[in-house]
Amino acid sequence: MSQSSPVIISDNLHKSFGDLEVLKGVNVELHKGDVVSVIGPSGCGKTTFIRCLNRLESVTSGKLEVMGIEMSDHKLTEKSLRKLRSKVSMVFQHFNLFPHLTVLENLMLAPQKVLKKTLTESKEKAHHYLDKVGLSAKANFYPEQLSGGQKQRVAIARSLCMQPEIILFDEPTSALDPELVGEVLSTMKQLAEEGMTMVVVTHEMQFAREVSNVVLFFHQGIIEEKGKPEDVFSNPNSDRLKAFLKRSNTPVY
Ligand code: ADP
Ligand code: MG
Repeated sequence: MSQSSPVIISDNLHKSFGDLEVLKGVNVELHKGDVVSVIGPSGCGKTTFIRCLNRLESVTSGKLEVMGIEMSDHKLTEKSLRKLRSKVSMVFQHFNLFPHLTVLENLMLAPQKVLKKTLTESKEKAHHYLDKVGLSAKANFYPEQLSGGQKQRVAIARSLCMQPEIILFDEPTSALDPELVGEVLSTMKQLAEEGMTMVVVTHEMQFAREVSNVVLFFHQGIIEEKGKPEDVFSNPNSDRLKAFLKRSNTPVY
């Protein structure tokens, strides 16, 4: 973790859906360049937490600040929401590409609509990031003509076209056939090595261990344990984390 001022501050963050309290006081500070793996059992609030980070979900109480933008209802203006959306982008489990648009068109859409880029600029960026994820040859294909791994790499390129400061990933490989997981993880690893700030909900413990510098273990709506991967995986304190690692067949060494 670097010493710069945090890009994400979550202080006693609570989130409820009706009577169901999902986040029960999440406390964490994350910095520019952090590659954060969010792990934990199903239903513990991982997705809800990262959806709060780009305001796909509103905050119920507590403080959440992302890139200096305060997310509580009474503080968040339309203008700051637009700013937030241009700085924080999300890669979803099921890619969420538009099926009726080509790969290139998928990549060009948000930069034009949200960032008000020209057609020429958007096209140039789209080609640039498509090349970066190794899919230049697929520019004029439709999503259904691609494998799951290729679709997810396109979704990553689409995120990059927004030139975000932070990319959120919600289980980006869990909808993929096992043989396609590696190509997506290596694209993500490349981004991490280039210094992108990333928050990744993942079941890929090897990725968490090797690529991230911070691991957050969620359990029942709180961060039960956090730290460097070598500590969290080799020296877990909480019995719940120990049990979770055992269940997910993560070697503790
Ligand atoms: P995880 O990603 O860790 O599996 P989630 O954050 O998706 O967990 O969900 C945590 C809990 O919140 C679950 O009980 C889920 O059913 C509930 N939940 C998530 N989203 C909503 C929603 N939009 N409305 C009501 N309940 C929700
Ligand atoms: Mg989830």
